[in-house]
Amino acid sequence: RARRKGPGNFELFDKHMQKRALKRLKMETDLRRAVAENQLALHYQPIVKLNSGAIAGCEALARWRHPERGNIPPTEFIPLAEECGLIDIIGDWVLEEACTQHQKWTDGRAETLDLSVNFSLLQMQRDGVEDRIMDILSKTGMDPKRLKIEITESIFMEDMDRVKGILSALNNEGIGIAIDDYGTGYSSLSYLKRLPITHLKIDRSFIGDVSSDVAAQAIVQSTLLMAQSLGIEVVAEGIETVDQEALLRVLKAEYGQGYHFWRPIEGDVFSELVNRPLVV
Ligand code: C2E
Ligand code: MG
Ligand code: MG
Ligand code: MG
Repeated sequence: RARRKGPGNFELFDKHMQKRALKRLKMETDLRRAVAENQLALHYQPIVKLNSGAIAGCEALARWRHPERGNIPPTEFIPLAEECGLIDIIGDWVLEEACTQHQKWTDGRAETLDLSVNFSLLQMQRDGVEDRIMDILSKTGMDPKRLKIEITESIFMEDMDRVKGILSALNNEGIGIAIDDYGTGYSSLSYLKRLPITHLKIDRSFIGDVSSDVAAQAIVQSTLLMAQSLGIEVVAEGIETVDQEALLRVLKAEYGQGYHFWRPIEGDVFSELVNRPLVV
């Protein structure tokens, strides 16, 4: 009996694995097609200067509208792109598209507008990533000083000399370096001093609790103090309520981003938002 049960189980297991492998293969094929057939798009979420309410810039966020499955979140298709070797093509497309849009928004505009673009760890590990980025900037006419590259703390686990070389090369061109989801990963204060980090984006898990939880508030407050003394600018991510906004303003957080202000929106809508004439 036991003998019969064994192979049977294996068969079931195999079928399950096979189904998963097939599903993945299909998604991979679909993602390749998505790139070729322009199914990918970018949305832009405004980043607000908290003391004035003015829009200081935005973060580009990738979107995939799958013809059968509807919207697939970037938390799903970015890792897939990394696994199947499409991340460099997609990453290049994201940067070029975002910079092209930025040029349109700022054409003839007096005030500056910053643009944040996410880079995964694998994207930063690509050979010659600095040159690739600079190529896209010159191709699109994007001012490096207006670009911020968002990376996560996972980069601190990599070869520090190499990471320092890449980030310094980018920063020497004027590009800002933001640590995304700050506080959720492996943080070491010494890296903030040793690497050219220009921005910290405090993760929304701390912001969500900031007006109700003493510990979250202490973490936010001490991050703000530390950043200020290191000359690093801070963005509070995921502000969802008026209470959170008010408290962050009291704590002197400089920038905020979140559903309380705006959700990610299409490029044309963002353009109207930042370029509409002031109604007096
Ligand atoms: P992220 O870079 O931390 O982006 C912020 C995420 O939080 C976005 O999710 C945004 O829609 C969401 N968000 C903003 N405000 C709020 C809020 O008030 N409440 C809540 N609950 N959420 C808020 P999204 O667009 O689904 O992106 C998820 C992640 O996917 C991003 O996290 C980023 O890590 C990655 N990602 C998105 N686009 C790209 C891309 O072009 N390249 C790479 N490498 N990664 C990307
Ligand atoms: Mg980000
Ligand atoms: Mg984030
Ligand atoms: Mg995130």
